[in-house]
Parts: sequence; structure tokens; C-alpha cells
Amino acid sequence: MQNPIVIIGGGVMGSALAYWLTRLEPGRPVIVIERDPTYEHASSALSAASIRQQFSTAVNIRISQASIAFLRHAADELGIDDERPDILLREHGYLYLADALGAGQLRRAHTVQKACGADVALMDPAALTGRFGWLHTADLSLGSLGRSGEGWFDGYTLLMAFARKARRQGARYVNEEVRALAIDGHRVTDVILADGTRIACSHVVNAAGPWARQVAALAGVDLPVFARRRTVYVISCPAAMAPFPLLIDTTGFWIRPDGAKFIAGLAPDDDAAEQPLEPDYAAFESRLWPALAHRIPAFESARLERAWAGYFEMNSFDHNALLGPPPALGNFLFMNGFSGHGMQQAPVIGRALAELILLGRFHTLDLSELLFTRIAENRPMLEAQVIG
Ligand SMILES: Cc1cc2nc3c(=O)[nH]c(=O)nc-3n(C[C@H](O)[C@H](O)[C@H](O)COP(=O)(O)OP(=O)(O)OC[C@H]3O[C@@H](n4cnc5c(N)ncnc54)[C@H](O)[C@@H]3O)c2cc1C
Repeated sequence: MQNPIVIIGGGVMGSALAYWLTRLEPGRPVIVIERDPTYEHASSALSAASIRQQFSTAVNIRISQASIAFLRHAADELGIDDERPDILLREHGYLYLADALGAGQLRRAHTVQKACGADVALMDPAALTGRFGWLHTADLSLGSLGRSGEGWFDGYTLLMAFARKARRQGARYVNEEVRALAIDGHRVTDVILADGTRIACSHVVNAAGPWARQVAALAGVDLPVFARRRTVYVISCPAAMAPFPLLIDTTGFWIRPDGAKFIAGLAPDDDAAEQPLEPDYAAFESRLWPALAHRIPAFESARLERAWAGYFEMNSFDHNALLGPPPALGNFLFMNGFSGHGMQQAPVIGRALAELILLGRFHTLDLSELLFTRIAENRPMLEAQVIG
């Protein structure tokens, strides 16, 4: 009997990987170690779960194209018997806004997106006013709208669907914390749990989200991934505004519909790592609300209903996924550092990591540019379009 592949963390990344491993090689033993099956603080349970094609790097656009294709058929892919998960995918687009300063970046990204075949269109202020009458456009130079393949979905349902299907296909979930890794030469030999259990493994995967840095440190690896708190504000506004895509303002705030309400957020002034997961209510009054009311005058009468906070797993090297093993440990693989775009990438990254483990190479989509080894080579894959 082969030793199992052990995945540390059962959030959307770890569960997507467990799903793909057990689907691509039925019978291969897979164990997911998750210390909190309620996912109270996990990013996957606190996510805004939106998907866009509008990245600045071709590799991220290709991931999104493959991801949206998966999400459109998630009910077929992840259904069990008559139970078909409805991830409530809504393809209402992203609308990036730019003033005179930002227009150049939007045009550069647009060129990359078009070259990859993304369904995006640039709009001048008159066209923006014509389509989105509720928008203040006087200080805008340009907008970029995703016409298909962009929108939002229920991330928690996707997480649960991956986990349930992975279990059905034979993955075993263990409710424990990983405390140590035993290493022999260039291999991790055992994963050691808080209760002292040792699990001999063929491979270990770090899918610990915002806590990935601590898990990497168990093997002496310095992973530049930090837990950065982000607040999501739930807002009600009596005015009827449609169509309403996910909007990204020149000031950096984002907002999108969420049922009959809206959710919104913005990057904090104080971005120290690992702040307690309490919402930053003060920033709503001092920064978000004034910017919102400027861009969408109907939000003058908006009301903050509630808020929650979660961690972005921010990769400080280049704001992109860090995949695969570090140079010195061939069977310890990372799937970390998604910097706010991990939920939408999980279906594709899960498959890519499964291929890397089972075949020793990427097969469906070549993600070599995102390998962890780029850090040692000092070859950043900078993503310019990072939200929040
Ligand atoms: C407010 C917010 C908004 C977001 N919006 C979007 C968005 O619109 N679109 C998008 O694509 N992405 C978005 N993201 C990012 C996305 O949610 C994350 O990239 C994704 O959920 C990361 O999944 P994960 O499985 O890596 O991490 P997590 O979901 O955090 O899972 C990691 C798991 O590892 C477990 N763990 C950690 N250490 C150990 C250990 N030692 N032993 C055992 N278990 C351990 C934890 O308990 C946790 O359950 C957002 C994130 C936040 C916080």
C-alpha cells in the first residue's frame, strides 16, 4: 500500500486538490488534515467569491478561462447522485474604472486580455453613462467591462461541494492540527499531528491559506505569504440600479450586488499582518462611504447593515500563486499566496497540483510561471490588477 498524499488544510484549495487527486487516480490514498471543520476563520468561508478575466498577466487570464468553464458545470462535476450543488454563479461582469492617471494601465491590461481571447470591452465616459446611468463619470477617463466570464458565486457552497465529492471519491478528512514535519534529506517523511499521531506520507501539500507561512516554517522554508485582514461591508441602498457589475473604483474600493443588498471593501490604511478578525467599522465612515457616495450618488442614502473580516493570503513577493516544491524538498508542495484571487482559481489550481503530484508535470494548463522556484531565481510574476 502506497503512503498517502497528505494535504494540510481543507479549505477550497485543499479540497479542490483532494477532489482532483481522487478523480484522476481513484484508489490513491489522500488524507486532508483540517484543524477546524467549521471553517470559522478560513478565507474560503469569508470570501467575496467573485471571478474575473481582467488580470494583467496571461497566466492568470488562462486560469480564469478554465475556471469559469468549470464553475458553469460545477453541478455536473461535483454532484453526488441526485444532489447537485448550486453555486449560484451570476455572470454580471466586472467594471474597472480609471481616471487620467490609471487609463494607461487599463489599456495595457486590455491588450493582454484581448490577446488571450477574453470577452472585454473598453468604454469611454459617455458609453459608461449610457449603460450605467447611476454612475458619476465626470472625473473618469475610461472603463473596462467584462461582457462574459466574470461575476460571482457562492464560495462556501463550492468549498463544501469539493470536500463532499472528494470524500465520496475516497479522500479521508481528519480533524486535527499539523504541528511538525519529519524530514530526511530532501523529503518530508512524516506529518505529525497535535495529538502525536505520525502519518508517513508520499507527498505533503501546504494548503493552509493565510497560515501557510507557519506550515512552511515547519520545514524551515521561508514563504513570503502573510495574513492581511480585509473587511467586507454589507450595505443596503433603496435606489434601483441595474445592470450592476462588480465595480472597481479609481480609489481602489470594490462593490457588487449580493442578493437585494451590496457587499463592498477596500484595502486598509494599516495593513499589518495577522490583525484580529474584527471588522474595521471606522474605515466605512472615514473612507469607503465618501468614496462610494462620490462614485454612485444614490449611495448618499446607503446604510451599513453589518460587516465581517477575513484574511487575504498575501504573497509579498509578487501577488501571485506560489505553486510546487521549494528547491530543497521535492515532495513538499505549495498552493499558496493567491493574494485575494484564490477562490476563483481553486478549480484549476487543484487540478494543476494534482497533475504535478501524479504526473510530475503540468498537463492541462502549463503553470510553470507560477512555480515557487521563481523566488530563488528572483523572477517575479507581477500581477498589476490586484484588488483591495
Ligand atoms: C474578504 C475576502 C474576500 C475575498 N474575495 C475573493 C474574491 O472575490 N475572489 C477570489 O477568487 N478570492 C477571494 N478571496 C480569496 C479567497 O477566498 C482565498 O484565496 C481562498 O479562499 C484561499 O483558500 P485556501 O483553501 O488556500 O485557504 P483557507 O480557506 O483559509 O483554508 C486553509 C485551511 O487550513 C487550515 N489550517 C491552517 N493551518 C493548519 C494546520 N497547521 N493544521 C491543520 N489545518 C490547518 C485552516 O483551518 C483553514 O481551514 C477573498 C478572501 C477574503 C478573506
